Amino acid sequence: MKAEQMEQARQLLQEIYGYDSFRPGQEQVIQQVLERIDTLAVMPTGGGKSLCYQLPALLLEGVTLVISPLISLMKDQVDALRALGIKGSYINSTLARQDVTDRLNAVSAGDIDLLYVAPERLGDERLRRALMQAGLAFVAVDEAHCLSQWGHDFRPSYKEIPAWIYSFQPAPSVLALTATATPSVAEELRNAFDIAPDHSVETGFARDNLTFHVVKGADKATYIDQYVKRRQQEAGIVYTATRKEAEALQKSLQRKGVQVGLYHGGLSEEERRKNQEDFLYDECQVMVATNAFGMGINKSNVRFVIHASMPGSVEAYYQEAGRAGRDGAPAECLLLFSAQDVRTQRFFIEQSDAPQDRIEALYGMLQDMTGYCHTDGCLVENVLSYFGEQDVSACGRCGNCTREGERMDRTEDAQKVLSCVLRMRENYGKTMIAQVLTGSRNQKVLQFKLHTVSTYGLMKGTSAKIVQGFIEFLLAEQYVRLTLDEFPKVKVTPKGAEVLRGERRVEQFIEASRPAEVSDKLFEVLRACRKRLAQEEGLPPFMIFSDKTLRDMCDKQP
Ligand code: ADP
Ligand code: MG
Ligand code: ZN
Repeated sequence: MKAEQMEQARQLLQEIYGYDSFRPGQEQVIQQVLERIDTLAVMPTGGGKSLCYQLPALLLEGVTLVISPLISLMKDQVDALRALGIKGSYINSTLARQDVTDRLNAVSAGDIDLLYVAPERLGDERLRRALMQAGLAFVAVDEAHCLSQWGHDFRPSYKEIPAWIYSFQPAPSVLALTATATPSVAEELRNAFDIAPDHSVETGFARDNLTFHVVKGADKATYIDQYVKRRQQEAGIVYTATRKEAEALQKSLQRKGVQVGLYHGGLSEEERRKNQEDFLYDECQVMVATNAFGMGINKSNVRFVIHASMPGSVEAYYQEAGRAGRDGAPAECLLLFSAQDVRTQRFFIEQSDAPQDRIEALYGMLQDMTGYCHTDGCLVENVLSYFGEQDVSACGRCGNCTREGERMDRTEDAQKVLSCVLRMRENYGKTMIAQVLTGSRNQKVLQFKLHTVSTYGLMKGTSAKIVQGFIEFLLAEQYVRLTLDEFPKVKVTPKGAEVLRGERRVEQFIEASRPAEVSDKLFEVLRACRKRLAQEEGLPPFMIFSDKTLRDMCDKQP
């Protein structure tokens, strides 16, 4: 029976879809679904998750319910099914009342094999009755990570799904699908749907055709202009953190003569659709967008994805960056980092009215994202281990793997910072620690009597900004960690404690081309010179050199 059904599945794959073979993971998922085993499928975007529920839907009795948050894509998906001759339908808030009734009647009559609904619909009693009449084959929960508090895209309506499913007698089997799940998210999903660990199908997160870079301290607009110009006719996406930033970047690219589209939640539905289509059909080279753009969009020849600002989580980042190179050809993913990005993301969290444990989860995700930006090691290794993959080795291609320079011993500096953290009773943030170490007479330092701490001034002569940068590095490499609240305090980790005891050395990679620290230091020295010169000549400092000119001089290659 089992073998027979799989044979039928393979036949349908060829006859209906015209594909020769299954993609990794598909066969196992389909087999489990056919055996009515509750299953979690974690496969990358574009990995072919839809097929995993569409094929069994054709083979099993009754109607298959697909729960998806992507209302705007349901029509396209169902149209595509209908074009293949599959009896699909959807119900969401865009339909007129009568239309909903007609569709529910079709479900009751057994005329529908696959029904897509948004989770908000589940409360509708008529839907339940129609499904009971038709008989439920199984329930596919797409974008299942939306159920997890620990995930980056938590949606409260998803929380209701398990109870709704288990209110059926007998309960239908479940297929939960997602492209992004950290170990804790996957565990939460398995618990919610009672899925055995053995019944998780995970095909791995690695994307070997993508090359990752983190760029720090660049003037973002200029950098993006130049980068896009260099890539000439190649398609790319530039993600921003805010609508305002998207509009500014779009204008600046337009002025440079680039064909550029814009996409964010503030545009009308029509504008969004038009801009999206222009991009899909190569009418414009670059799409500047907020994270509203991209879910379910299948453009295969995106050659680069630039993040003009850091997103709030590694999951969001990897998913958005992963829209590059879907065709398997080489593509680049760049993240332009600035300290302001962290403040922006913190602001978003502060504005949210989510419950406390959700807030903590968000701060935790932000901390891991910041860690990616500051890590010294391979960027791919960083992401893959975040997703719980083991035995990953350095990619050899990313910005961190390929830069030139040397590893410097920073053990002593690390010990200074770590002991300062302890002396300050692990009760202060990065800024204060840097100020105490550099011997600042800042009002707060004096107010809290921190100038009496024994590590006060231990790193005098270095600027507070540089020390803070070094603390970021220690955070990224997990020698210290931050508490997950609005005013994060620095704490020493067990790994950091080993450094303090002299059981572990700290090495930092110092780039051969002028590293940010050197350039920052130079900037400060030149500014001091300018100030003295200005005083001697009786001129305002900016008449000698503007800050921007000084900055440029300092950032140039040696
Ligand atoms: P996901 O939901 O995992 O992001 P989709 O289900 O949208 O991915 O599939 C992405 C693309 O891959 C679709 O165009 C789909 O038709 C195609 N696809 C799926 N399975 C196969 C297969 N076995 N062989 C070839 N192409 C496939
Ligand atoms: Mg999908
Ligand atoms: Zn690497």
